[in-house]
Amino acid sequence: MLIDFFKHKTECNHEHLRSDLDECYCPDCGALVKNKWYMVRCSCCNIKRKAISGYDIKPESKFCPNCGSSDFYVQELDDINFTDINYAVLKRVVIPQNLCAANQIWIEKDNGLLTENKLLELRK
Ligand SMILES: [Zn+2]
Ligand SMILES: [Zn+2]
Repeated sequence: MLIDFFKHKTECNHEHLRSDLDECYCPDCGALVKNKWYMVRCSCCNIKRKAISGYDIKPESKFCPNCGSSDFYVQELDDINFTDINYAVLKRVVIPQNLCAANQIWIEKDNGLLTENKLLELRK
């Protein structure tokens, strides 16, 4: 029983997900996951610094090899290319999905708004 509970709690890390697609469904857990690429740049001289991904995204080395600064910023990439892939890190973000349209009707009813959806419901 307890083991089952912990099994359930284990989050899928979507390791079998394709990374060549912008977004797709994880074959292990069925979640819609978006592949997001991030790059770290030096705040001082703006060069690309090799990023590592852990709990958050940060540069691999503490100081910039070009100017010695420890300041950096994280940039989100729209597209990944062959040059940037050596620097960038991939983060997988689960996109929450609307389970069904009926949920929306309920929310609108709770707000007491007379919307088109509610009217359609009343006519039934
Ligand atoms: Zn998964
Ligand atoms: Zn620098």
